[in-house]
Parts: sequence; C-alpha cells; structure tokens
Amino acid sequence: MSREEQLLQRALELSALLEQHRRWLHRHPELSFREYQTSAYIRQCLSQLAIPHRTVAGTGVVGTLGHGEPCVVLRADIDALPITEQTGLPFASEHPGCMHACGHDMHTAMLLGATLLLHEHAAALPGTVLLLFQPGEEQLPGGASLVLASDVLEHPRPSAVFGQHVFPNLPVGAIALAAGPIFAATDELSWHFRAAGGHAAQPHLTGDPIVAAASFICHAQTLISRNRDPLMPAVLSITAIQGGSAPNVIPSEVQLQGTLRSFDQPWRQQALQWLEQATAHVAAAHGVQATLEIRSGYPPLVNDARATELVRQVATAMVGADRVVPFQPVLWAEDFAYYSQRFPAAFWLLGVCPPEQQTMPGLHHPSFCPDERALPIGAALLAAVAWRALEIFR
Ligand SMILES: [Zn+2]
Ligand SMILES: [Zn+2]
Repeated sequence: MSREEQLLQRALELSALLEQHRRWLHRHPELSFREYQTSAYIRQCLSQLAIPHRTVAGTGVVGTLGHGEPCVVLRADIDALPITEQTGLPFASEHPGCMHACGHDMHTAMLLGATLLLHEHAAALPGTVLLLFQPGEEQLPGGASLVLASDVLEHPRPSAVFGQHVFPNLPVGAIALAAGPIFAATDELSWHFRAAGGHAAQPHLTGDPIVAAASFICHAQTLISRNRDPLMPAVLSITAIQGGSAPNVIPSEVQLQGTLRSFDQPWRQQALQWLEQATAHVAAAHGVQATLEIRSGYPPLVNDARATELVRQVATAMVGADRVVPFQPVLWAEDFAYYSQRFPAAFWLLGVCPPEQQTMPGLHHPSFCPDERALPIGAALLAAVAWRALEIFR
C-alpha cells in the first residue's frame, strides 16, 4: 500500500473526530478577523498534541511540526460569512446572522486532521511543516496579506505553500486542479454621481445623475469589451444602483457599485485608469459631478507548475487518476493568491457534492451543505502533499 493510501486509510479511521471538529466549528461561526472562539479551539487542539504554536494576524494560529529545512506550509482559512443559515442541520449555526457558507469549517477541520496524521509521523518528517490557520479570507485586505506582513513565513522561508477549497461542482472523492492562473485579481469599485437635483418637470435646471449613471454603465461595458484582447479573461460587473425616491423628483445623487476582475496585472492597472477617466468624462458630458473610489482586492491566484504536478501525483496515488480532473479557471477571488505571488504554491478544489445528488446549493448560499465524507480525503491529501513536498522541494 502506498503512503498516500495508508494516510487515507488512517484518515478514514479518524472520520468521527474530523466530523466532531467540523460540527463544532460549524456551530460556532465567526466573521472575518473576529474568529476568537475558533482560534481558541484550534490552539486547544494543538496544545493537546503538544505542538508548538503562536498567533498570527490577530486571530490566526500557526503550528510547527518537525524541524529544520526545507519548510512547507499547509494553509486553511477559518472565517465565516454574514449569512443566516437555512440548512436545518442539527448542528446549524448558533450565532445569528453568521454561517460557515464557504466551507471554511471543513478547511479548518481537514487541516486539524492533517495535523494529527503528520503528528503520528513527526519523527519521520524530513523538514518542517507549518500549519497555518488563517483568519479573514472573506474580507479585504485578506488575512493572507497580514500573515505575509508578519514574520511567520520568514524563518525558515517556505519552499512551497499548499491550500484547498471545497467545491460543490464535483462529487466527494474528486479533486480538480490546474497550473497557472486559476482565480482572478479583483477590485471593488464604487461611484457617486451628484447634481443639484430638482423637479422632474424641469430637468434643464439641474444635471441628472440618473441619466449620467445610466450612460456611464453602458459606456463602461463598451470600454472593457473594446480594450481587451478577446482571448484574455476579464469582466466588469456593475452590481448595485441606488438613487431617487419619488416619480416627480430628480435626485441629487446616484451610487453605483461593482467589481473588476482579470488575470493580467498590467491590464488591470490600465483598466482602472480608463474607468477613472471615463467617470470624469461622462460626468462632464452630462453636467454632473462624479467620483470613483477603488478598493484594490486580491491579486490573481497563480498555481506553480511544479507544486501543482506534485499535488496531481499525490492525489492520483490516493484516489485514482480518474478522480483527478482539470480545473477550468474562473474569475473568483481568493486571498491564497498572496502566497502564490511570494512562494511556489498550489491550490486545489475538493469535491463535496453528495455522490447521490447531481447538484447542491453553491458556495455562499444559506443552504450550502458540503458532504462530510470529503473530510478524511482532504485531511489525508494535505498531509500527503506536505510530506511529499518536504522530499521534493529541497
Ligand atoms: Zn467565500
Ligand atoms: Zn472560501
């Protein structure tokens, strides 16, 4: 039996414990950067195994297994979302308006499982595994950027960083991955169009922020589609419009919100400049004032070819080649991207759809309910990837 199969077998034996971790975490979700109970729970688990650990980025925890170089990092995000749970599960959220709807409870439980698996072989590990429980993935500036601003990934410097995300589009047991860019760079945008406002019957006495905003939305879509190589993925979506309150009043303000997503960093910077110019020009053409506020989001997540190939080989040895499938890049965002900018990194998607079902509610849905049979697979995969990486990334 291969090491990968042995780790999976042991993880299956630990299924009840993994479920127990996951259900406690699911019951006690906490919003980004406020994961106090979660952090305490993780520290308690590490303390029980006498694994040295420290806090990072406020509520994050980093544990250390093994010693010396090389060093590889296993990362799980630990935060939940401001969503009211509608799963009806017996272990549903006890925190009103907060839910683990992105599966970070699964991620945390699987890293705790990998910790246990690797701990059982700590003496055999040819280097150091950092167990990184990261806060605040769901909220800018992203916990990963705070982890990197600290010194926890400096001494020793990691040779590779690995992470995973539950994936409702694939059945339990399947793993999707791809080298190169898989998730997008994002920017959050908000506009204010302002004018004097006035009587609907006398538009000539005021600028009209509604007409200006409408004109801008159409122009911005054209601007993106006409200034982009058609073979390069990028999208601008305007996702909110607010303004006005009565049929006979021209309002004094209209607000827009949206997001720009792309894989290409230079194009991204250029596109933001075009949007700033277009905002000013469209406003001037309509005789109104306008401002654009840009909140820069995560960079693109780019999987390292060598690290990805390592994960593919380990996953194939564990679950079989037929269940390791190519991942089609999407314009989602994930703050693991920051690690991928700094270190060789690989991030994969772990199937959590019950095999008896064709589909399930997606990520960030109030009925999102991943199949817990994925827990031992994800835990064993993390452990096996780290172990193999210590042997290869020397
Ligand atoms: Zn999410
Ligand atoms: Zn997530």
